[in-house]
This record gives sequence, structure tokens and C-alpha cells, in this order.
Amino acid sequence: MKHRITLIPGDGIGPEVTAAARRCIEATGVKIEWEEAIAGEVALEKTGNLLPKQTLESIKKNKVALKGPIITPIGEGFRSVNVALRQALDLYACVRPAKSYNGVKSFYKDIDLVVIRENTEDLYAGIEFERGKPETKRLIKEIKMLTEKRIRADSGISLKLISEFASRRIIKFAFEYAIRDKRKKLTAVHKANIMKFTDGLFLKTAREVAKEYEGKIIFEEIIVDNLAMQLVKAPRNFDVLVLPNLYGDIISDLCAGLIGGLGIAPGANIGDEIAVFEAVHGAAPKYKGSNRVNPSAMILSGVLMLRFIKEDRAADKLENALKQVIAEGKSVTYDLKDDRNDPSAVGTQEMAEAIITKIK
Ligand code: NAD
Repeated sequence: MKHRITLIPGDGIGPEVTAAARRCIEATGVKIEWEEAIAGEVALEKTGNLLPKQTLESIKKNKVALKGPIITPIGEGFRSVNVALRQALDLYACVRPAKSYNGVKSFYKDIDLVVIRENTEDLYAGIEFERGKPETKRLIKEIKMLTEKRIRADSGISLKLISEFASRRIIKFAFEYAIRDKRKKLTAVHKANIMKFTDGLFLKTAREVAKEYEGKIIFEEIIVDNLAMQLVKAPRNFDVLVLPNLYGDIISDLCAGLIGGLGIAPGANIGDEIAVFEAVHGAAPKYKGSNRVNPSAMILSGVLMLRFIKEDRAADKLENALKQVIAEGKSVTYDLKDDRNDPSAVGTQEMAEAIITKIK
């Protein structure tokens, strides 16, 4: 079967790493018709719009996209094109596996974690009040009347929103993901001891949903600061984590650190019907066009995409080829060498080439 997939090269190093990933995916033999679309700085230059309607339409039509990192220029009306894209397509689940690969420098071995982050609300809902603005003063007055709590007049305010609806949806998603991925344990992460009405609601909902999965998978809960410490001390005690938006953002970077960094951290943003696959790293503008950066995170995002479209054999072939190249440590980019100045480091496209030669 031929798949139609939207390909967004993105900004900075995006075009290089997506080109490498595309070549590797095609080398598995899977039939894909790519539909290229633009977003971010490139789109702004070409169309005057950071997130053109055609791009959203293409993803809505094809249901699956592979996306490079995007730059949101400051003062262009968008807080973040990425957040806008996730909200427009209701991609409510951010899935970030953190898996050790032999050959990658790291303090830890044999890590195999999955971070599932709620993507639509919490402190990232974008409802903010700027210091000194009339509406901020009004809100401060209103809060004083309602709660008798005093907020300093020179405060900025960001609202933390957690709904039962979004919590239930992400926790169910996490349980279903964990079962499909043959995992043993799901841990819900919170700070409900302090934020009783937001994280408290998330936790209460998690406990309710967990009852539906009793006997199928182990359910645990943990306070986020304790989790940060435990992950550094004993990461193998965890399996799948489900978190509200802000904690998910921070903890997924911590987990990327456990496996050796952003160069090998893939991700997916998934909704009920649509999924957009992208590396955790950003556009690294200083490396733009240098053919130096590591394509692995983007290639592994492609592996997640292949599994999503039920091309598991192709996904296995590609992941195994990548594993071999990283383990051999010869045809790898500078960041995977012991010494970052090692002259034997290869370029982005050369590493992709080495992976392609190993695909069987
Ligand atoms: P970044 O991830 O782009 O870069 C940080 C550093 O990480 C780089 O300087 C580089 O040393 C390293 N790095 C990143 N990717 C690498 C790779 N593939 N191989 C080797 N090293 C790599 O983070 P940043 O500097 O905070 O952000 C740069 C831009 O990217 C910003 O405009 C930001 O908004 C955007 N961004 C986009 C996304 C996205 O589209 N999903 C995510 C994060 C950041």
C-alpha cells in the first residue's frame, strides 16, 4: 500500500535532517508519496504567513506528517508555530521515547522509557497577563476580592489550566499506548500536594482511569520533584510516564539527557486521527547548511512514524541499521564521537548513507 505523507522540511537544520530521514525511510522499500509543505521562517518569507492554510490542509488530508524543527520569529503574532500547529490539529499527546543505543556516550545504559505529555493545556495554554496592563490590574483586584490573596502590583500572570476532559483523554491514551507497546508500568506524575485543584484533578482522574486497567498494567503515581531525583538515581525503575504539559516538557529533556542528548531523541504529536512526527531538538540555526548535525533523532522520528502507519517491518529494518552504525561509531556525526573535534566524524548525509547501506 502506498502512503501519502506531508513532509515539512522546516527551518535551520530542518531541511538537512528531514532529507536524510526521507532517504533512509525510502531505502526500507516502503512506498510513500510525500507532499511537501512549509511552515515557520521559510513560510513567512514565501507567503507572509508562518503557518499557511495549505500546510494545515495537507496534514488534515494525509493524517500523517514528518516535520523538521521550526523557528518562530519574535513579534510575529505567534507565541510558537509549533504550539499553534498542535492546537489547530488537536494533537493532544506528545510521545517521546528515551532509549539507550550502544555507542552513544552517556552515564547510563539500557534506558528504555517513554514520556507521554499532555500537549494542549496547563501553563502552556498561552493565557497570560502582562505586568502593569489594565486587564492585569483588574484580574489582581478580582483575585483579591475572591480569595483575599494579595498579588504584587508589578506581577505578570500566566494561568495554569487542567481540565478533567484533557486529563482523562491523555491518561487513557497513555494506558492504551503502554499496553500496545507491551509495557509493564504506567506512572502518573503530579504536584497535587501543592496544586490541589489542577494537578489534584489530574491525579484524581488518573486514579479513576487506572481502575479500568486493573490487572492489565501496573499503575503508580509520583510527585514530579521526587521523579526528577529518582530518574537520575535509578531510571530503570520507570517504564511509561504520563505528565501534564509543563512537567512533560522538562522531564522529557531530562530523559533525553539520560540517553546521551538531543541528537538521538525522537518525538511524536498525536491526536485522535492525526499524527505529526518530529525530533525533540530545535532548528540549531548556527549549524544551518553545514551538513554537520546528527540526523538520528529525525530518522528515529521516522521509525515512530513507520510504526504508526503499521509498517513495522520497515521500522525494524531502519532502527536496526541505525543501531549498527551508531554502535560501530565510524560513520557518525561529531556529537557521537568521543572527541567532538575528531576529524573522522562524517556529515549528516554521509551518516544517512552509512545507515542506508546497512538496511536489509
Ligand atoms: P536547538 O535544539 O535547536 O539547539 C541547541 C543545541 O543542541 C544546538 O546548538 C546543537 O549544539 C545541539 N543540537 C540540536 N540538534 C542537534 C542535532 N541534530 N545534532 C547535533 N547537535 C544538535 O535548541 P535552541 O537553540 O533552543 O532552539 C533553536 C531554534 O529552534 C529556536 O528558534 C527554537 O524556537 C526552535 N525550536 C523548534 C522546535 C521544534 O520545531 N519542534 C523545538 C525546539 C526549538
